[in-house]
This record gives sequence, C-alpha cells and structure tokens, in this order.
Amino acid sequence: MRSCSGIPLFLFVSLFFACQPVKEKTESINPKLLENAFTKYKAPEIDNRRYGYEIIAPLIAKRKDVFETTVLGKSVEGRPINTLTYGEGEKKVLLWSQMHGNESTATMALFDLFNFLEGSADDGFEFIRSAIHKNLLLRFIPMLNPDGAERFVRRNAQQIDLNRDAVRQSTPEGIILKRARDDFEPEFGFNLHDQNRYYNVEGTALPATISFLAPAYNEAREVNAVRSKAMKVIVGMDQLLQQVVPGQVGKYDDSFEPRAFGDNIQKWGTSTILIESGAYPGDREKQYIRQLNFMILLNALYEIATESYNQYTEEAYHDIPENDSKLMDLLIKNVETKAGDYSYLTDIGIKISELFLDSLILMKGNIADWGDLSVYYGHEEIEAKGMELEKGKIWPEVIPFEKLDRARGMDLLKEGYLAVETDKIHKGKVHQLPILVFTEGNTPNLESTLDGSPLFYLKTNGIRKMAIINGHVIPLDSSDNLFFWGIIE
Ligand SMILES: [Zn+2]
Repeated sequence: MRSCSGIPLFLFVSLFFACQPVKEKTESINPKLLENAFTKYKAPEIDNRRYGYEIIAPLIAKRKDVFETTVLGKSVEGRPINTLTYGEGEKKVLLWSQMHGNESTATMALFDLFNFLEGSADDGFEFIRSAIHKNLLLRFIPMLNPDGAERFVRRNAQQIDLNRDAVRQSTPEGIILKRARDDFEPEFGFNLHDQNRYYNVEGTALPATISFLAPAYNEAREVNAVRSKAMKVIVGMDQLLQQVVPGQVGKYDDSFEPRAFGDNIQKWGTSTILIESGAYPGDREKQYIRQLNFMILLNALYEIATESYNQYTEEAYHDIPENDSKLMDLLIKNVETKAGDYSYLTDIGIKISELFLDSLILMKGNIADWGDLSVYYGHEEIEAKGMELEKGKIWPEVIPFEKLDRARGMDLLKEGYLAVETDKIHKGKVHQLPILVFTEGNTPNLESTLDGSPLFYLKTNGIRKMAIINGHVIPLDSSDNLFFWGIIE
C-alpha cells in the first residue's frame, strides 16, 4: 500500500480518501534498525564514488568463510569479475552491480552488506541475518564492468553499453552475466544502477532519489507471476523509503527494451528488480544514497526470505509515481534580459557537469535551456522577478597568479569583472577564486548563449546582487565564504 507519510496532517485529512489505507501489520524492518546496521557495518575502505577494481579486490579477498568466492571470468582488459555466494537456503537470489562503470553507488552498499552478513550474532540484527542465511542462497557480482569503473565511464573497454548486450553477447562481461544467470537460475535478480541527477518524481520538484522498475518481458508489457513478484518486492522497498525520504521514489517507464539485461532476465524467468540511485540534496558523493541502498536491499532480502512480500499488491506498485526528467542544477526564473534593444523575461536552466581531478570534483556549468522553463524545477532555484541580467567584463590587465587571492577576486567581481587573465604557465592549475581565471589565447565568451557557460550578473535596481560563475551562485552582498574549485583555463 502506498503510505501517505510525509503529508502534513491538515492535508492528510482531505487526502485521506485519495490515498490507499496504510497497512497496519508489516513484516518489513524498522528503518531505524537498518540505519543502525548501516552505521555499524559500513565499509570504511570506500568513501567516495570513484574507485576501481584495486579498491574492491582486497575487500573481496578478506571475506570470511561464510562467503564462497569464485572468479567468473575477466573483463576485456583482464580484470577479474568475481561472484560471492552466501547462505544455505533454497530460494536463489542474484545481485549484480555496476554494469555501467560510473554507476558505483550500489557496489559500495554491497560491501556494507557483506560486512553485515559476516557480523556477530549478538549485535541485535541476528534475526535478519539468520532468516536470510537459512532461507536464501545469495550470489553477488559486485562491479560487473571493472574497466569502465577504472575510467569512471559508462561503457566497457570495447565502448559497448553492457546493458544492450544481453542478446548479442559481444562482450566478455555480458557473457559472464548471462552465464551466471543461466548456471544459477535464480528466482530473484537485482539489477543495480545509478541514474543522472535530473530525474524528479513526476509533478514534483523532488529528486527521484531511488527509482525502481520491474522490467517488462514483452512489448505488450504483460504481468505474469514472475514479474508480479518483482513488483511486490519493490512495494516493500518503496514503503520503507517513504518513511525516510518521503516523496522521493519514482518508477521507471516500463517500455520493453529487447537488448537490455533486466528485460531479458525477467523474460528468462527470474523476477527482476531494477534499482536506480539518483540524487539527494547535498549528497554529490552519494554516501547517504549508499545507505538507502543498503537499507532497501537488506529489507528486500529479508522480505524474500520470510515471504512477507506477498502481503503487497501489484496495484500498490502501479501507484508509485513515475520518474520524470525535469530537474536542472540551477533554475533562474523570470530574469529580465535583452536581445539588442528588445527586452524580455526569460528563465535560464543550468546543468553542471562534473570533472574529476584526483579526489576533487570540479563543476562545469552549461546553459542547458532558455525561455519559458515553467515546467522545470531546480535543485537550486532563484526567483529573479525584478532582476536583470548583466553581462560581465574581463579585467583589462594580466594579473600574476601569486597576486590573486579570494579578497582580490571578490573586489574584481563586485566591480563588474567576471574574468581575469593570468600568466600562461598556470594553465590547468586548480584554484579557489570566486572568478573565472584564464590564460592567453583562452579568453572566455561572456555572452550568455544556449549551450554556453553561465557567466553573468543578476542586478536589482541597478545594483549587482549576485554573480553566476560557471553555474555557481556567488552573492555579492554577503560575506559568506562560497567555496568551490575552479581550473585555470
Ligand atoms: Zn546504468
């Protein structure tokens, strides 16, 4: 049943009849208990989402003998793809993560889960562990695409999207996954991915922090017993999430994709559940979303072990709202701007991509859309009614990098200079100045254009209120230390 938690009481009364009743009795686990389990068993060796096979290799090697570890085969570049087996039960469950190399959130949660499954019997969680151990036979494939993970890119070393290789079988990784499924013939399968930051829950400004799908197994999107079971397990996970991140769960479109693993594994008779980790405010490294993955996976395994997922209905699955893709990183609404002499109001939608430099994440903004964006939402929004866009200037002289500090940068910014040139030898260096820094030959374009860099001021009554540098908002009338990394261009 879809819970109405998260809705204020006065609304709840009027919405009472619109929502399905909250089931009193549930076998799912108290979220607080799952949070405590995560805190106790989180794998400290992984603390950000960019890691390669060499980080997980020792974590696989150190498993206690409750796990049986096997190398299933090797990636294109020769990295091992492992499987870990746990439990003595009859119900078989296969979980695989990171077939897309830059989708690493669930892999972290799997290592947390391994620690949990090796935990001591007196930790207060033994009822979960023993139910799983007794009833399930679990098989995990963490990091199916280690070559992609190494470069933190989606595809494998052949540039193939493994999730379009379920049938063609052109990749060693795709062959390994199919063989693992065929040899094991699991009753349940968990297909673990990440989705981009721009998915929201349909009709709301809330990000789809977790999205689910019980993939279709044919074009007609029929529901058979296999798919129905996947739907019910998803309902249990949704109910848990509604208690901790209310309104932040979406359901993927179930169009049949004949080349994808999820759809085919469903077709081959394994009840398959897709979990996609999206965005959560202030969690770029997805460490909280990792915790949510741990919680829902553990809850789902427990509900499969105890068969309590049978209490849920297909209807409740259909009631989960759809995913939409209407989020921007920054949405500036109703700003007055000019095209020549023509003044008009526009919204400006900015998306910020990530550039990775060792352990740093550098952000690069891009004007993704321009015009009436009233159907969009922003992770951050500025209502700019009464404000006008002002083009910035470039400081006319070259300033040696040593002479640039944050105070000087702020002074230039307040005077209308968004960019400054520095000595050529510093190109590529990382800085923390609140201004764009460039070298000879790399003069930035300060015209605000679609697909261009977001570099401009917002003014009220002729006074500059804030600067937008590369998608970062810098207030000019406050002493707040806005802190971001830039790179000298
Ligand atoms: Zn994916």
